[in-house]
Amino acid sequence: MFGRNKTKGKRGEPLPENYDGLPDSGRPAGLCPRCEKQSSFDYVQSLPLTFDGRYIIGHGEPNMPTYHERSTVLICRNCNQGVAVLEEQWTGEHRSIEGKGSGTISWKGFHWWPLAGASSHKAIPASISAAFNEAVLSLSANCPRAAAVMARRTLEAIAVDKGEVNGTLAQRLSNLSSKGQLHPTLADWAKEVRLIGNNGAHFDPINDVSLDDARQLVDFIRELAKFLYVLPYELKERRAPKQ
Ligand SMILES: [Zn+2]
Repeated sequence: MFGRNKTKGKRGEPLPENYDGLPDSGRPAGLCPRCEKQSSFDYVQSLPLTFDGRYIIGHGEPNMPTYHERSTVLICRNCNQGVAVLEEQWTGEHRSIEGKGSGTISWKGFHWWPLAGASSHKAIPASISAAFNEAVLSLSANCPRAAAVMARRTLEAIAVDKGEVNGTLAQRLSNLSSKGQLHPTLADWAKEVRLIGNNGAHFDPINDVSLDDARQLVDFIRELAKFLYVLPYELKERRAPKQ
């Protein structure tokens, strides 16, 4: 299918054990942004994106323009779905576009689809993953305030999904905690999300939201969603009678 190439890619380096980076054609292993599992990948195809104005002489065939960015499709061996990777060409230790450096030509990924870190697990309700993925998108675009606001909104969506539809977000979180649906440590973290999310939404040069703040909130929400939705789902699947 798709003429998959099962080679290890041009870089061909041995992979570190438990490599949890994102895959590219030079290192077709790591975290699948689609199924969120450690996996290895089959290379399908690459297409050029940006041309540098030079050509490889064709010797009877048409001359081929050279390029330093390309779009690559890899297929995850775990979920059997495609991942698109934007890749940049490197010469040795330098980006090829810089025109310096010598050594092996390799391709390294710099952008992934699905969005790295986004959550599309089927156990997470759509209203929650939509808000969360917007937080991840804001983070990847270096917009920490927008990411914090969307992290707060994700928390609101979680509270609503858990039956807390009235009152302020602070009250709803406190209700979830007293009902035992939110462990005290998680409830404390959730308060941080609420406070920093508020800072993101209102102009306040003293309590501004840093990229690190936003990253921590997004990481927390990802773990929270895993704890509240994904783990119970996986346990249920595991215990379901096998076909
Ligand atoms: Zn996968």
